[in-house]
This record gives sequence, C-alpha cells and structure tokens, in this order.
Amino acid sequence: SRTGSGGVVRRRRRRVLMFPLPFQGHLNPMLQLAGALHARGGLDITVFHATFNAPDPARHPPGYRFVPVGDGVPSADLVPSGVDADIPGALLRINRRLREPFRDCLRQALALPEDDGDEGGAPPACLVVDSNLRGMQLVAEELGVPTLVLRTGAAACLVAYLAFPALCDKGLLPPTSKDKSQLDIPLDGLTPLRLRDMVFSPTTTHANMTECLKCLVDATRSCSGVIFNTFRDLEDSDLQRIANGVVGVPIYPVGPLHKISPCTEDSLLAPDRACLEWLDKQEADSVLYVSFGSLARVDGKELLEIAWGLADSKMPFLWVLRHGLLVNSSSSDDDDDQDKVRRLLLPGGFEEATRGRGVVVPWVPQQEVLRHRAVGGFWTHSGWNSTLESVCEGVPMMCRPQFADQMINTRYVQEVWRVGFELDGDQLERRKIAGAVTKLLCTEEGRRMRQRARDLRDKAIECVQEEGASKSAIQLLIDRIASF
Ligand code: UDP
Repeated sequence: SRTGSGGVVRRRRRRVLMFPLPFQGHLNPMLQLAGALHARGGLDITVFHATFNAPDPARHPPGYRFVPVGDGVPSADLVPSGVDADIPGALLRINRRLREPFRDCLRQALALPEDDGDEGGAPPACLVVDSNLRGMQLVAEELGVPTLVLRTGAAACLVAYLAFPALCDKGLLPPTSKDKSQLDIPLDGLTPLRLRDMVFSPTTTHANMTECLKCLVDATRSCSGVIFNTFRDLEDSDLQRIANGVVGVPIYPVGPLHKISPCTEDSLLAPDRACLEWLDKQEADSVLYVSFGSLARVDGKELLEIAWGLADSKMPFLWVLRHGLLVNSSSSDDDDDQDKVRRLLLPGGFEEATRGRGVVVPWVPQQEVLRHRAVGGFWTHSGWNSTLESVCEGVPMMCRPQFADQMINTRYVQEVWRVGFELDGDQLERRKIAGAVTKLLCTEEGRRMRQRARDLRDKAIECVQEEGASKSAIQLLIDRIASF
C-alpha cells in the first residue's frame, strides 16, 4: 500500500493468476471468484486455461487476460468419455500434459513489465489453482509464486477425501467385490457417509483414485489458503473441522460464489432462453426441472426409463437433454441441428404423451430456471454446483448420483439438510421415477423438504449480505492476496 495526497491509503494494483480445471462445474466457480476479486478487490485477472472447454474472453470486462496453455496437446486424450468415464485418469493426464506448457506460460507472465498502462499491467500476487491441479501448483512453487487453492466441491467432501488413506489402511478401501453388504457400513467419524459413498466410480482404478486424492490433499496442504464455494450456515461443522488443523492453512468459505459475484453465467453451451417463457405460464412450484450436469451420461435403456417416468408422472417438466448425455450416440454437444438430434434421441410416442406439459432442451440458464417460481423440484445428478444452486433458490431435490462427490452430496441432501432424497436402486425404473416425482412435488413430505430448502436459502442470503460470513471471508481473502 502507499499513501497518496490527503493521507488516503492507496493499494498497489495487483493481478491474480488463475488456473481452472477445464470442466463446466469447475470453470463456473473459478470465473465467479475472479468476478468477485475483480469487482470488490480491484484486482486484475489472468486466466490460464486448457485449449478445450475454453472460457469466452468477450464475456469479461477489461482487466482480464486469457492465456491458452498446451496448444499442441490433443484434447481427446484429456477429456473423459464413455458412461463410466475415468475422470481421475483424465485429471492425472491433464496434470502431466499441461505442466510443461504451463511453466513457459507462467514464466512469460512473470516477465511482463510492471506498467499500469499496458497489457502487462499489475504484477502477479499469486496463483489460484483448482484443487485438482497439483501439477500447476508445483510449477508455481518452483517459480516462487504463492498459491491459493479453490475447492469447487463441498467442505464435507474434502473431509471425506482427507479420510481416504485411513480407510485404505483399515482395509475398507477398495471394497472387496464379494460382500455387497459391506458397502452399507456407516463410516466412523464421517456420518452420514457409508463405504459405498467413498467409491469414486465402479470403473476407476484404485491406483488412479489414490493418486488423484493424494495430489488433491497435497495441494490443499501446500498452499497459502483454501477457498471453498460453500457457506458457513450450510457446512459449519465440516468447515470447523477443516479449520481446526486438518489442513493446516487458513480457509475462506466464500460461497455461494454465484451469489457473491457479478459474473454468474459462463456457459460453454448456448442456453435455451425460451424455456423461461414457458415456465412463466406454469403454476407456482408445479414444474420438475431435470438435469444431470455437464459430464454425467446415461445409456439408451436409462434414457427410455427417464422419458417414460416423466411421462407417467403426469407433472409438468423441463428436461435438459444434453446431446452428449447419451452414451454411444452419434450426436455430441456441438451438433448444430439440436432439434433434430433431440427427436432422434427421444422414444416414439413420447412427444404426443407429454405435449403441453413437457419441454426438452439441450441446455438452460440453470440459475434462472431454479429461481423461477414455477420450479417446484429438481431431479439432479448432485454435482456440487447444482446442489448449491438448488439450495440457494429453495428448491428440493431428487438425486441420482453417478460418480465422484455426487454420492457424498446426495447423503448430505437427504440425511443432514433433509431437502431431498435419493432415487436409489441399481436400475432406473419408470415406475419408481414417477413415484419419486409425485413425492417431491405433490406430497406433504415434499412440501416439508421445500420449506427446509427455503430456510437454507434465507441463510445463504444472509451470508452474502455486506456483514455476512461469506462477504467477510471474501474481504479476508482480498487482504491476504494484497499481503503477498
Ligand atoms: N448448467 C447450466 N445449464 C444446464 C445444466 C447445467 O448452466 O442446462 C450449469 C449448472 O448451473 C452448474 C454446472 O452447469 O453450474 C454444472 O455443475 P455441477 O457441479 O452441478 O455438475 P458437473 O457438470 O460438474 O457434473
């Protein structure tokens, strides 16, 4: 800081370097954090990013720079695919392949002249890195740049991941395939989690999982602070556990970031906005919103059960049918003729059966949809962003988790916050789906879940007020960045 004329303390302009993981659910919170630091702390921003799933520079104000990393690295190798996509395997490859190119990019960024007037602008203070990018953090360490880590998942999830090595030492993980009942044993000290909630996905190898989580934990322990997209009133006890020395560095619960930041939407896919007009015509709390996020996939049989489950429920619905959602389909999220693709994916007779009460689109502005008064429930895959966005709009959930932290989030939704329930069972069945939709939208039990979700929404609103816990945490974070 320096003192200008009249004794006003002027902070030196600083730049924050950021490196998000190139997936929608990780890009969104990182760019929202950038928005908050830029708007509130006056910080300039440099976003390093992979060349696939790249953010759109045009959507950001002056003061932002975007630096692609790893131009020559074939993206097909870095993107997980298939119904049982090996995401940890992809994360390890991203770290390995982008590390060297990032070293060059970071060196160049550090060598830019410090001149408030030009492109180089303010000098870098630190790197904020996704918790899955330990490789990039090591590069920053090597070049003497302090790091902060952004956890885009729940605090509860980090607590669970920190316990992973101990569960392996006890012989509980990986579970032996023979005794299925073992999967339901409750985990000591991790209530309400069961062993099954700690299994990343049926096809991820234990070795990849172990390495990925070791990198993640190492990243959180080697940085100058961990930033969480969560809020105190939602996860007080898990945040306290982490703050009380589990990680050993300061923590900053600054969420929900989409409510703190002026930059809320940075969709990689074009959202259909006409669905909002359709929602305007529906009754309050009557519509089921259905979306499984940006990565989850289903097979043809499951798609059929979902379609007929929704039809049989007789309730209005808005269904996001991403074109990459169906495994083995020739269509992808980039197909131009989205209407044609959608018709090909849906079963014959479905459109007639649901005409007037069902809308199927490839992508929506999710936060606006959840905020709409007509939406009464959310069928979600329980990604953390979706869970948080639903809680923040007071919308109860039916959850069908697939992999990663989705099982952990589902347990908290059902057992701790009691704002929803799991749609369980090995197979998706239309009869069970229709029953679950009715329970969520039409019963007293569903109404009570909605009330609890609304109570949480009020607490989230308090946390992002000027004196609220999350706003205070953002200010502490800005002060910390200024101290580097
Ligand atoms: N999303 C969206 N439109 C859609 C579906 C999802 O904007 O039609 C956004 C959603 O608001 C959320 C993100 O995509 O911010 C998905 O993140 P999440 O953590 O829920 O799941 P992931 O895609 O990482 O599995």
